[in-house]
Amino acid sequence: MVKTRSVSAIENGIVIDHIPAGQALKIMRLLHVVNSKQRVTLGLNLRSTSLKLKDLIKIENRLLAPHEMGYVAIFAPEATINRIENFKVSEKINCALPETIRDVLVCPNQNCINHIELKGYFKLEGSPSQVKLRCFYCEKQFERDQVEEICL
Ligand SMILES: [Zn+2]
Repeated sequence: MVKTRSVSAIENGIVIDHIPAGQALKIMRLLHVVNSKQRVTLGLNLRSTSLKLKDLIKIENRLLAPHEMGYVAIFAPEATINRIENFKVSEKINCALPETIRDVLVCPNQNCINHIELKGYFKLEGSPSQVKLRCFYCEKQFERDQVEEICL
């Protein structure tokens, strides 16, 4: 007998869990999943034991490239990425902060060439609990919540 699953379990794809509440939408935009044809399940403000509230993203038939895991790490350093195959977790990946991030986030400094030309290029500084980004052009350091993603 086939049991009905309450919360849409996915057959193949990825589950990004333990995203700090409020960061999932940013991650979805960075991963360009909104306009993809894949089914996406989004959980916002879920209860969690290790974090107060968390977000969760499930994307069917999708894997993450290393640079995309880096995007996840910037906004959710504690996240776990589970790869799902045949409804089972086939791999658990802890994401690691990248050293640099390019062309996806824009410098908030309005006088910076990086802001004007929409070509963000940052060095990652700080720690996973306090991620900071330093602009390669104006050399100012920003909190991760100050930078906006480039909308293409
Ligand atoms: Zn700048």
